[in-house]
Amino acid sequence: MTKKSLQTAIIHSDYVAPQGFGAFPTPIYHASTVLFKDVAAMRNRDWLDKNAYNYGLHGTPTTFTLEARLAQIEGGTHCRLAPSGLAAITLVDFAFLKTGDDVLIPDNVYGSNRVLSNWLSSNFGITSRYYDPMIGAGIAELIQPNTRLIWAEAPGSVSMEVPDIPAICAAAHARGVLVALDNTWAAGLAFKAFDHGVDIVMQALTKYQSGGSDVLMGAVITRDPALAKLVEIAFNNLGLGVGMDDVYLVLRSLSSMKLRFEAHDAAARTVATWLKHRPEITRMLHPAFPDCPGHEIWKRDFTGAAGLFSVLFDKRYTEEQTDRFVDSLKLFKIGFSWGGANSLAVPYRIKGMRKDWHEEGILVRFNIGLEDPEDLIADIEQALGTM
Ligand SMILES: *Cc1c(COP(=O)(O)O)cnc(C)c1O
Repeated sequence: MTKKSLQTAIIHSDYVAPQGFGAFPTPIYHASTVLFKDVAAMRNRDWLDKNAYNYGLHGTPTTFTLEARLAQIEGGTHCRLAPSGLAAITLVDFAFLKTGDDVLIPDNVYGSNRVLSNWLSSNFGITSRYYDPMIGAGIAELIQPNTRLIWAEAPGSVSMEVPDIPAICAAAHARGVLVALDNTWAAGLAFKAFDHGVDIVMQALTKYQSGGSDVLMGAVITRDPALAKLVEIAFNNLGLGVGMDDVYLVLRSLSSMKLRFEAHDAAARTVATWLKHRPEITRMLHPAFPDCPGHEIWKRDFTGAAGLFSVLFDKRYTEEQTDRFVDSLKLFKIGFSWGGANSLAVPYRIKGMRKDWHEEGILVRFNIGLEDPEDLIADIEQALGTM
């Protein structure tokens, strides 16, 4: 080629870095345009083929690497990233539901899944119905000819009941219905969803996979190529994409996730054991404690617990008093989401969130971070003193 002007040369540089660079981190591949080697390769592209690259939105080596690692942790074969946990829930709904279908949702489901389901009902011709999370095999009676999908969450957000996933899956599969599990709490570590019959796993990577309270991301994982293809189609059609720097942050944290998970678990059980004996607390809603609904199922099916649990305060305490308790905490901060190094406490008005909540007493949910549990206990003790 003839000599290039400086402006062109800046864009079309001849420099090629030496081959053979070795380092541990997965490179961050930023790209919208992905290059084809010739026109034929461009024409023959297959948007659904993950053995090749065709457009930045559909994946780069950075996203494919995170997807493969998440699938491995969960025991699946196919994974797609979404820009948030909620976007991953949306991806599942759009992949597996169409107008006229019916979806069953546990009454204790993550709040935004409920809002999304109600919106699908009001605007998209899908019926969503709510079931008692402890229904187990009884879910068979709720399945209609047009029921396509059953959502489950183990344990349920905020109220922490542990559902009988194998029983729900058996009833669903007997009628050709798919089961999607929000497996965020167990992070794919403490509950092997596919081995217990689940068809589709959704995770909010925002929690332990990120671990830094700084990234929003979600994932949908399957281990059936036919289901994976439906996820792939919805993923492409919805235009979901994630930022490569965020993917890098999750990849960086993933190496320590299992160790962090175990540390959160141990610390949470230490704090919960102390709290359980306090006269202010009437129920310890932590799956590893006998007063949590589904505790026996947790013992049977799970190999660990996350650092997230709830408590019920004795009904003699008013909301004003429990709010004062939360406001008086110093190490625990007030805020949504969880899974990071910082401990959090959030009071919930759970009666307004549920159809079937009959418990008395104010519910407060704790996220136990990575601080020394003895310091967290001391903080809770001083805050209880202000009530
Ligand atoms: C946080 C969370 C989500 C949603 O994740 P975002 O990334 O915040 O959208 C979904 N399900 C559960 C159980 C969660 O805890």
